[in-house]
Amino acid sequence: MTTAIVWFRRDLRLADNAALTHALRSAQRIVTVYIHAPEEDGDWAAGAASRWWLHHSLAALTESLAQRGSRLVIRRGPSLAALRQLMRDTGATLVCFNRLYEPARLAHDRAIEQALTVDGVEIFTGVGHLLTEPWAIQSQSGTPYRVYTPYARTLRATLSVPAPQPAPRALPLSPARLKSLPLKQLGLLPRIHWDTGLEKSWQPGEAGAAQRLRRLASLLPDYVRARDVPGADGTTRLAPHLHFGELSPRQLWRAIAQAASRQTAGMLRDVEMLERELLWREFAHHVLHHFPHTPEAPLNPRFAGFPWRRAPKLLAAWQHGRTGIPIVDAGMRELWATGSMHNRVRMITASFLTKHMGIDWRAGARWFWDTLVDADLASNTLNWQWVAGCGADAAPYFRIVNPVLQSRKFDAQGEYLRRWLPELARLPDRHIHEPWRAPESVRQAAGVQLGKDYPAPVLDLGTARSAALARWRDPTRQRCRTVAGLARHPALQETVD
Ligand code: FAD
Repeated sequence: MTTAIVWFRRDLRLADNAALTHALRSAQRIVTVYIHAPEEDGDWAAGAASRWWLHHSLAALTESLAQRGSRLVIRRGPSLAALRQLMRDTGATLVCFNRLYEPARLAHDRAIEQALTVDGVEIFTGVGHLLTEPWAIQSQSGTPYRVYTPYARTLRATLSVPAPQPAPRALPLSPARLKSLPLKQLGLLPRIHWDTGLEKSWQPGEAGAAQRLRRLASLLPDYVRARDVPGADGTTRLAPHLHFGELSPRQLWRAIAQAASRQTAGMLRDVEMLERELLWREFAHHVLHHFPHTPEAPLNPRFAGFPWRRAPKLLAAWQHGRTGIPIVDAGMRELWATGSMHNRVRMITASFLTKHMGIDWRAGARWFWDTLVDADLASNTLNWQWVAGCGADAAPYFRIVNPVLQSRKFDAQGEYLRRWLPELARLPDRHIHEPWRAPESVRQAAGVQLGKDYPAPVLDLGTARSAALARWRDPTRQRCRTVAGLARHPALQETVD
């Protein structure tokens, strides 16, 4: 009787799981295992919010395996040693897992595959995390893409998305008496109980992902408009489910196509936009794979010696949502409370940190890494470098987003601001975006004393913008122009994205 090990990592689902499907076809007995080995993620072991998610996702997987007659075995790494031990315990001769693509993981996986092959073990690896492998396409000149549009065009032309596999109804019984650690012993949950907001906001696990996916049909027809409105529930909120593999991107891609086919007309732009976002996710993995140094260093070498400011007090004000700029503070508080932040507000807060505050994008990326439930090395790195102006297909550094204009444009009635900054709730719509400009009498009537109920701005937006432009002149060694001269340049007038 053949025994296969199915090694779950960030594919914490039973449906459309290539490794599980292969094991079911090839073996009579199946042992499912999760091996906890954060050291194998190098410098990028999961942050606190991701660990919270992982705990609950593993609990959900344990339950759905048990419902099908199987059992999730939990062990500690190193992964190779744990797999070898499990093979000794069970007599397994086949190991199945889905590939991960972060540089540290990829290196470990190659070493594990080589070692197990030498042991005489059969290995199966499948695509579980992406629509296509990050190395699958290259530009006509044979080099990796650095620009999204040609990348996405080529990918769309070659992409084939097979129908996702349904979850098996039953699984073979696991061998009894296999040692397994209690999930709690992995210590993934926080010691201090700060996770109430996360609990209220999310349902980790495959069932939670499926529930979110069911909203797609009602959300899609208005996606293009609503996705930019932070006060609306206009996006899929599937990012953490995709990151932990509770839903495969193939399932989402197919679901988008199905939802589109049921609608009449007028949804083409919405469908294309959502597909586009998923292709950004693919692009992020393509860039990370080909430029594995980018989590630590800018892709654009001109930024290698960029004069970022060391400003710990400003950084702390940003992290804790105490900058005095409402849209920035609302975003940072949403992040702290829920483990997520609306995409447009991510862009605004990241731009504010790197441009107005002049702080290194890596400090922001690290904070997001620790606090986001969807923290993903490829997407986080690409997007931070994009905002900072030093990455693939990046917005130029001198394109400085004005947080107040963004706030007025995308949260005109201050719905989002009032949700996350209740202390400003009684300010009129006109003034809530920049309370420091409101007449004293208006602030008093709304019960807002700056510096007491809500911080005064930690910086002057205009001065900070000019300073950012001055900093930008250095690494690019542009012909020296005055800051005022730069500000008159037509390209620099465009401060709203
Ligand atoms: P939807 O709008 O419903 O999009 C569907 C899916 O497409 C998302 O779930 C996500 O998987 C993917 N997607 C959407 N936008 C992007 C994008 N810009 N780049 C890559 N994939 C995208 N996303 C992460 O998944 N992990 C991160 O660590 C992360 N860090 C970010 C940091 C910054 C500074 C910025 C500006 C963006 C970051 N993003 C990150 C991208 C984006 O903000 C989130 O993917 C999105 O907000 C998730 O919400 P959603 O699932 O409702 O997205």
